[in-house]
Amino acid sequence: MSQLTPDFSKGLVPAILQHYQTGQVLMLGYMNQEAYNLTVQEKVCWFYSRSKDRLWKKGESSNHIQHVTDIKLDCDQDTILLQVNPDGPTCHTGSISCFNTDEPFSLESLESTIQESVDSKNPNSYTNYLLTEGIDKITKKYGEESFEVVIAAMKHDNLELTNEVADVLYHLFVLLHDRGVKFEEVVEVLKDRHKKSGNFKGERKDINNW
Ligand code: AMP
Ligand code: ZN
Ligand code: ZN
Ligand code: ZN
Repeated sequence: MSQLTPDFSKGLVPAILQHYQTGQVLMLGYMNQEAYNLTVQEKVCWFYSRSKDRLWKKGESSNHIQHVTDIKLDCDQDTILLQVNPDGPTCHTGSISCFNTDEPFSLESLESTIQESVDSKNPNSYTNYLLTEGIDKITKKYGEESFEVVIAAMKHDNLELTNEVADVLYHLFVLLHDRGVKFEEVVEVLKDRHKKSGNFKGERKDINNW
């Protein structure tokens, strides 16, 4: 969390809520010193409501509490950015975002889509079919799709290549789900390598370990 305190000398300070994983902008509210202090202490969003003219804990009646994972101030400390993990839709209309922006696509959303198929127990879902068949089927399909990527690349067919890469990614995520490996664990390995490769200043001394 940021060490600096916001500048409340000119009154209420705008606070932007952003989804901690997807980066989606969720809402804008206003804070006074008290709302900010409560937010820092409780790690959930408190605002000063201009219409209610009182402190307002987001989710006080809807239970759509916004859990704060990080707080950042802008360059001159007069705007607050809150990264949040929402318990429910941030907008009171039931939308994920007050701005009706699309949820940004991330590989994590591919993971959630697979989980949603499993939870739905839909017998017509291809994901559920693969997972019911098991690891032999999944690895066979993954291998086939990888080979299709190779063929597309060798044919210099970039349209086919992009489609086959999408197939590979989907089957890879089904495979990870089957093995009980979270994509987050893969991301951690990548981040670690990214840090290390930065230390080499461009020299790939670790290349033989890949
Ligand atoms: P809540 O804090 O979610 O329990 O909502 C309580 C009330 O606050 C709602 O009935 C709305 O009037 C207002 N409200 C909640 N969320 C928002 C929002 N994202 N933007 C503006 N007003 C909101
Ligand atoms: Zn500013
Ligand atoms: Zn709203
Ligand atoms: Zn394919």
